[in-house]
Amino acid sequence: MISRIDLRGSLPGDLRSVLPRADLDVEAALDKVRPICDDVRHRGSAAVREHTRAFDGVDRERSRVPVAEVHAALAALAAPVRDALEESIRRARLVHRDQRRTDVTTNVVPGGTVTERWIPVDRVGLYVPGGRAVYPSSVVMNVVPAQEAGVGSLAVTSPAQKEFGGLPHPTILAACALLGVEEVHAVGGAQAIAMFAYGTDECPRADLVTGPGNVYVAAAKRLLKGVIGIDSEAGPTEIAILADATADPVHVAADLISQAEHDTLAAAVLVTDAPALADAVETELKAQVARTKHSERITAALAGRQSGIVLVDDVAAGLKVVDAYAAEHLEIQTADADAVAARVRNAGAIFVGPHAPVSLGDYLAGSNHVLPTGGCACHSSGLSVQSFLRGVHVVRYDEAALADAAARVVVLADAEDLPAHGAAVRARFDWKVPS
Ligand code: NAD
Repeated sequence: MISRIDLRGSLPGDLRSVLPRADLDVEAALDKVRPICDDVRHRGSAAVREHTRAFDGVDRERSRVPVAEVHAALAALAAPVRDALEESIRRARLVHRDQRRTDVTTNVVPGGTVTERWIPVDRVGLYVPGGRAVYPSSVVMNVVPAQEAGVGSLAVTSPAQKEFGGLPHPTILAACALLGVEEVHAVGGAQAIAMFAYGTDECPRADLVTGPGNVYVAAAKRLLKGVIGIDSEAGPTEIAILADATADPVHVAADLISQAEHDTLAAAVLVTDAPALADAVETELKAQVARTKHSERITAALAGRQSGIVLVDDVAAGLKVVDAYAAEHLEIQTADADAVAARVRNAGAIFVGPHAPVSLGDYLAGSNHVLPTGGCACHSSGLSVQSFLRGVHVVRYDEAALADAAARVVVLADAEDLPAHGAAVRARFDWKVPS
């Protein structure tokens, strides 16, 4: 069901090349999404509608969801789901509110200051996936940090669902209503990213698009980056678990399965120095997968080349492996899990000890679940308030402070053969400005 990679003895130099990872060919998907994005650029909402018909089998006259439908979905929401979503929002708000940066002013020299001022982007498009599974939780994870950053205009988009009259899933609409978001579009895939990047008559262009999605969403974000700002590429979900002999195989197997449930391309990787735990987890996987609802999808994900059990000599070697892998989600289930977690360098989010499963983070920990995948955690962060802010340097120098810097500015300008730069400073004093 799940392959094994034995790295006991010595770790290879290029660890990444021997670790399991999905064949997610975003570059190949670029060729597929380019014509879709070009079409939306030139034909606007007519093209959006046509691609929604082609890929989602839905033909609605307008992609924008009527506001009354958004509110009706909340009115019809089952009370326990409403309660859980409200608590999820409350906890996410607590965490994200604390992330807000304050402006910082540095006194560089007497009379000369630089202030870093944090300004939210004006308008964001938030992508909530909805192909295989629907993710009302991703509404929370996108909207809360954008709101806490102070973004003025927010639009959510999610694929049109045939079985719900061509609207996004009702729980997604209800989550939007709970958060006070009234602009919702029933559009998925590359056409949704292009809609935000170029704007249509139904959807004004956005400055930034965030949110996870499949390979077509990731490819469209990569293609249109620059036309529109993007967050990190958050593709098929990944879980890595670093566990030793103290871990409970029932929990480890359940956590691996929980993320494999997302997608046949989802990755579930166990790294352990305990062969007996590896055996017990494998036995558990077989038993638990047989009992679970989406067993076909999970079996495919666990059997895929992106999943595996990696055997190492000790926890120190395991740390090297998980750092090279740079998982979206990393669980530490070892003795002294806190100390081990403190040594991790690369992960989208770290879940420490036996009582912090990734499922908690998916919904209710307060942390964000839109996280970098595919090894991008070695250079990118998950979604946060920061993702929606720009740091703008505000420079203030008085005459004396400029006079003090002037000669050096001129020297550096001349060294770069850009004398007009120096002249702009000289012009403010008695020095002769070259003609
Ligand atoms: P999705 O909304 O990303 O994609 C559905 C859309 O893909 C459709 O609307 C359609 O327009 C487009 N599409 C489908 N087939 C196409 C084709 N052949 N050519 C062009 N476009 C096509 O939903 P999904 O497919 O279920 O994928 C969601 C992904 O998001 C999963 O991989 C899941 O693991 C991931 N996810 C990641 C995170 C994270 O934080 N990393 C969180 C939640 C979900």
